[in-house]
Amino acid sequence: PAGPIYRGRFAPSPTGPLHFGSLVAAVGSYLEARSNHGEWLVRIENLDPLREVPGASRVILKTLDALGMEWDGEVIYQNQRYNAYQTPLAILERQNLVYRCTCSRKEIADSAHRGIDGAVYPGTCRGRSSSEGYSGAWRLKTDNTLIEFNDAFQGPVRQHLENDSGDFVLRRADGIYAYQLAVVVDDAEQGVSHVVRGEDLLNSTPRQIYLQRLLHYPTPSYFHLPVVVNAQGEKLSKQNYAAPVNASDAVPQLTSAIRFLGQDPPAELRESDITSFWKWATKNWKPWMIPRTKVMKTS
Ligand code: GLU
Ligand code: ZN
Repeated sequence: PAGPIYRGRFAPSPTGPLHFGSLVAAVGSYLEARSNHGEWLVRIENLDPLREVPGASRVILKTLDALGMEWDGEVIYQNQRYNAYQTPLAILERQNLVYRCTCSRKEIADSAHRGIDGAVYPGTCRGRSSSEGYSGAWRLKTDNTLIEFNDAFQGPVRQHLENDSGDFVLRRADGIYAYQLAVVVDDAEQGVSHVVRGEDLLNSTPRQIYLQRLLHYPTPSYFHLPVVVNAQGEKLSKQNYAAPVNASDAVPQLTSAIRFLGQDPPAELRESDITSFWKWATKNWKPWMIPRTKVMKTS
């Protein structure tokens, strides 16, 4: 057969070092890929220079390396791929599926209804027949066709985009490409067949599938892992000071990550070396044991 049947990826945003929440996403996608004899790619999602913390991507890659998580191929950086995003945007523009939106945040908030992921853009600027002669963000026209997919872990997901998320931004007014467009282009160009990532992105997936259909890209299979929350029920993030993963304490941290994912490693595994850890974890990976609710990090 040509090429691998399974190609997964981990796509961190370098807004800080790896923390336990991102480690769990990395470990989940890695174990799914390796236990399926697949490839595992790493992509740095640094589209927004203002959110990127200098040096963070290097720290993330060093940490993955120290944890024994080997990736296949070259790491790609989204901030070097502006040309790759330009063409698909132009294709959608030519089909009149994109328009420029000059609404302010306040105007949108005032007239929007709440959708699945916050305020739904009410389509104020939609009537503009072409994007020429306007400034502002590039939005994609959505419709109410049912977008339905079966998440390998969360089960069926259904959205009517126009009602549930509205016309969404593909490129910001300042020229920065939006995550939704970049992730779809990159997953397609890199030949990603299986996306394993945090449940916080479950509601973005129908938008990504819609874009894949418009651009004639294949749709990968999706597997959304539970997210790690702190005692306040918030997703771990740099904003709530989640502690960085300590790479010199690799095996205990990896053991906690797989325990969080519902796996049941023997007590001795914590004392083993990295190679034995991955050998055990890959061989004994049982994705059906992953808990179905948000799980709190307790230690
Ligand atoms: N860069 C995103 C994040 O760190 C992940 C995107 C994805 O996996 O599709 O939350
Ligand atoms: Zn507008």
